[in-house]
This record gives sequence, structure tokens and C-alpha cells, in this order.
Amino acid sequence: MAVSAQAKFVALVLAVTSGGCAASGAEKRKIIIILGPPCAGCGSQSPSIAKAWNIPHLDTGNMLREAALSGTPAGLIAAKMMKEGVLVTDSIVNQVVADRMKMPDCSKGFLLDGYPRNAAQAKILDDNLAKTGEKVSDVLVLNVPMKGLQQCVMHRWTSDSGFEWTNDYVAFRVPKSLTAGATAQCDANDLAHCNMWDDWTKEPLFRRADDNLVTLDQRVKIYHSTTDPVIEQYRAQNAVRDINAHQAFATVRADIQEALVHSEPSSLALAAEPTRYAAVPSPVAAAALAASAAFAVFVAVFSRPRNNDLSLTELLVE
Ligand code: AMP
Repeated sequence: MAVSAQAKFVALVLAVTSGGCAASGAEKRKIIIILGPPCAGCGSQSPSIAKAWNIPHLDTGNMLREAALSGTPAGLIAAKMMKEGVLVTDSIVNQVVADRMKMPDCSKGFLLDGYPRNAAQAKILDDNLAKTGEKVSDVLVLNVPMKGLQQCVMHRWTSDSGFEWTNDYVAFRVPKSLTAGATAQCDANDLAHCNMWDDWTKEPLFRRADDNLVTLDQRVKIYHSTTDPVIEQYRAQNAVRDINAHQAFATVRADIQEALVHSEPSSLALAAEPTRYAAVPSPVAAAALAASAAFAVFVAVFSRPRNNDLSLTELLVE
């Protein structure tokens, strides 16, 4: 009941603000999913793919964080769940994605990063697409052996804007500020001696607290148990494109290009250079997304235990 009301509300918002729904167009949309274990490079590779196809990069982690920052009750619940390190309830994520992919900037297609994460989400996605006679075009699966993932997390450096760099990992970019042979260092209390800066934002780079071998091990196990069935589902549809992502960044990008070109002969070439491309929805999209998330909370809030001891600050993710 609440979900149906939510769908109607979002449709109304979209009708008023955009006058159209992307899924109803005659042109076939390019619907790409990118999947991979933690540190496989989905976040690094996605911007070039999205730019080449002129489609938005729908990163569900970012979408949920934006909902959190919007301060809506749904956003705060999503924030709390993200902080706990658990997946956000399927009903909230499914609805947020279903509403987002109807927005006008998805008229040529979209790239899903972080969704679907389990078989139930994949089924909902397929069912939603089937309503408009569509299906997923390509599922890019970035494969990296455990040894590579370990090397990646132990050498990953991240800026506050979320861009990822490395001081020693084949598939990530080394920032220009780190001179060859120097020991990487950057401490918030001693920025004068920092030698790891984001090339694009000029922010200092830091090591994430969850970038350690124990957390990686847990996250990889969860990835395999929940996402392997998703991959098998799309393999049965001949949509899976396996990519060796344990190679130089540019080589991985070229392999992705080849896979997408093979899938669709008229495809565009990927950007020649690494691309900084923010996955930020338009103001209209962001407003509708926040409204959508607010409605979704009415479904979620009564199925979740309340914790009155949590302050607003504690609810927000970093
Ligand atoms: P990420 O930025 O992909 O690491 O995602 C951050 C957090 O967002 C995850 O830990 C989950 O709590 C939540 N999240 C992102 N995508 C999904 C999804 N498809 N289903 C449920 N929760 C998700």
C-alpha cells in the first residue's frame, strides 16, 4: 500500500517536473551492471563507462548517502544501517533504484554500481524492467584473485570526495604527488609532511579504517554468498562479461570497452584518459529521490526496532 502510494507520488513529481518517463521511449536503453568484490575497481572504472555511453552512474552507496544527508527519516535509517555495516533493507533500496531509473537522465540507459547485491534485488530489477519490455544489457564482472584484493586494500588511499588512489597496486592510479621510491605518508595532524594528495580535488589522502585484511575477508565472503547467485542469474541470460581486473587500470578499461563493443557493435569508445565524473543526480532527480526515500521509510520504520539513544550525529555516516 505504502509502496504503491510512493510510486504514484514519485510519478507525479516526475510528470510535473520533467513531463516524461525515460522507460517509455522507443530507443533501446543500455542497461549495464558492474559487479566485483571490494577493491576490484568498480568505483574507479565506472566513471569512464558512464561518460562514454552518456548515461548516469547510479552508485547505490552514494544514492543512499545522499538520502542520509538529506535528513529524511528514510535517509537516517539507511545511514544507521550503513554505519552498522549491514545492507540497507531491500524494500528501501529497490524503491530508490526503481524511481531513479525512471528519471529523464536515464533515457539512454544507466550504469548500476552496487546493485543488485542479492538474488532478490536482481529479480525485482528484472521484473521492473520487464514492465517496459526491457532487460539488462551487460553485466560486467570484475574478477580479482584474493591476493590482488589484499594488495589493493593494504595500499588504497582515499580522499574525502571518495576518489581512490594507491601507492602500490597494479589496477589503481598512483597520485602524481607521490614521487617514485618515496614512502607514502599522510596524517591529518601533520599535513606538512603529507605526500599523497588527490590529483583532482587536491585533498589529502587517507587510509580507510575498514581497509584491513580482517574486514576484507568478511566482505569478500559476503560478496560471494550474496552476489554469486546474481551473476549466475545473468549468466543464464548471456549478459555476463567477465573482466580480468587484476591488470593495469588502462588495460582493464580497454577490456571493458571490448566487452561492451562486442555486446553492441554501435557502441562508443571509452574515454581515452581516466575520467573524473561525479555521479550526482540533477537537482530535480535529487529532489524526487529524497521524496522517494521519505515515502519508503513508512514501510521500513515499522519493521525496524527503534533506538532512541542514537543522536543525529551517530546516525549519519562519515
Ligand atoms: P558502498 O558504497 O557500495 O560500499 O555501499 C555503502 C553501503 O550502502 C553498504 O554497506 C550498504 O549498507 C548500502 N548499500 C549499497 N548498495 C546496497 C544494496 N544494493 N543493497 C543494500 N544496501 C546497499
